[in-house]
Amino acid sequence: MTNSPRTPGIAPARLPREAYARNFADVEPPLDAHEAMVAADRCYFCHDAPCITACPTAIDIPLFIRQIQTGQPEGAAKTIFDQNILGGMCARVCPTEVLCEEACVREAAEGKPVEIGRLQRYATDTLMQRGVHPFERAAPTGKRIAVVGAGPAGLACAHRLAMKGHDVVLMDAREKAGGLNEYGIAAYKTVDNFAEAEVNWLLQIGGIELRTGQRLGRELSLAALEAEYDAVFLGLGLAGVNALRSEGEEHHHVQDAVDFIAGLRQAGDLSTVAVGRDVVVIGGGMTAVDAAVQSKLLGAENVTIVYRRGQDRMSASTHEQDHAASKGVRIVTGAAPLRIIGGDHLEAVEFAYTEEGPDGLTPTGETFRLKADQVFKAIGQHLAGAPEDVHIEAGKIAVTGPGRTTRLGVWAGGDCATGGDDLTVTAVAEGRDAAEDIHATLVGAAQLAAE
Ligand SMILES: Cc1cc2nc3c(=O)[nH]c(=O)nc-3n(C[C@H](O)[C@H](O)[C@H](O)COP(=O)(O)OP(=O)(O)OC[C@H]3O[C@@H](n4cnc5c(N)ncnc54)[C@H](O)[C@@H]3O)c2cc1C
Ligand code: SF4
Repeated sequence: MTNSPRTPGIAPARLPREAYARNFADVEPPLDAHEAMVAADRCYFCHDAPCITACPTAIDIPLFIRQIQTGQPEGAAKTIFDQNILGGMCARVCPTEVLCEEACVREAAEGKPVEIGRLQRYATDTLMQRGVHPFERAAPTGKRIAVVGAGPAGLACAHRLAMKGHDVVLMDAREKAGGLNEYGIAAYKTVDNFAEAEVNWLLQIGGIELRTGQRLGRELSLAALEAEYDAVFLGLGLAGVNALRSEGEEHHHVQDAVDFIAGLRQAGDLSTVAVGRDVVVIGGGMTAVDAAVQSKLLGAENVTIVYRRGQDRMSASTHEQDHAASKGVRIVTGAAPLRIIGGDHLEAVEFAYTEEGPDGLTPTGETFRLKADQVFKAIGQHLAGAPEDVHIEAGKIAVTGPGRTTRLGVWAGGDCATGGDDLTVTAVAEGRDAAEDIHATLVGAAQLAAE
């Protein structure tokens, strides 16, 4: 007998085979050349363009849109990559509705911004599909730099350093490079193994040696890296998952949402990914939405996101929340988990209604239960495995300016470092800026030594 959305418990293959391809197809299909022209024509090419200021990597948006409009998509791509070497991924995953497109003057005037994200994708795809890498390395500097963590921050840092003529060794604990681009972003945002293709394209710059299966704290130590390399950059992301602190949390059908998504992203055949009939996702951010939507797309019958505060406090954008609702995900706000109920199989989650007052969040005394055979925890990630030698502040590696840690010669950026807002594009900006500072520091020191 085949499974269906109503099959009890946690089961794979709930849908007909062809449904997976349809459900996990590109959420926002690319523009064709004509559509790109029409979209580019809407740009006013503003002086002091607010969209540039709203972009964490400060891409010259009016310039690249003008280049598209004048039939130079590859020039447009170069303009984007000058600032953001992962401009292809960012075009797919940036919450543009709260960044550049929110700032666009046409959004303010008409409630319909220029489609900056889709235009960026059109330009970057055009260049990348030709397999062309638009940068060359500067003359060798003789400096060697260790970059630990091959997520967006580490990749951007490594690429910029390689461009400047340094030799980079890029190390990561996992089997593949890409960080959350490879293991975390929702599958329907980055189809056709784009994350892997982008890493391979980026490495075409040369001068970057990738070593996977290398974990800081296991195969690697900061002291050894400092001794061997001229500088170290840490782009470790946030590897730890926050606990619910609810009774029954250790039940084997309560899983970290990020692990579920990583498994799904690495599954060659999505019909093999098991999902519950009744899924409850606890959290209010992008991870919660992604776990919930993908559960639904895998064929779960009922999927509910439960968030402890009001809807306006959810960190998932309204756009993301609407997307979840459009896929049939229910969102319940103002409720916190009390206990997970079940024996061998999970049965339900009990929640307490909450209210926010001057003393913070308090239970109202009223409770309710949601049927569940699978629960995903998505209440945030934290830094795990950072070396003891660097100062930690508010749970992250303390940095000043362009990623300088308290330890001379060690930089950090992306989600693992203070500042920023835990987005792909911010990680790219921080990796790039740290690379510029490492370069200035090393070259400055070399010049002083020569004088
Ligand atoms: C489920 C999910 C969905 C998301 N969706 C979006 C989205 O749609 N749009 C968006 O803008 N942002 C999204 N984000 C946030 C975004 O993915 C991150 O902000 C971004 O990946 C941070 O980049 P990073 O390089 O700092 O860290 P990561 O991408 O986490 O990369 C860190 C790398 O370091 C490696 N590493 C960790 N510890 C060690 C160690 N001790 N030794 C060696 N290597 C180590 C890891 O294996 C990993 O490859 C999402 C996050 C999650 C969890
Ligand atoms: S704000 Fe909008 S209209 Fe103005 S330059 Fe940016 S994209 Fe174009």
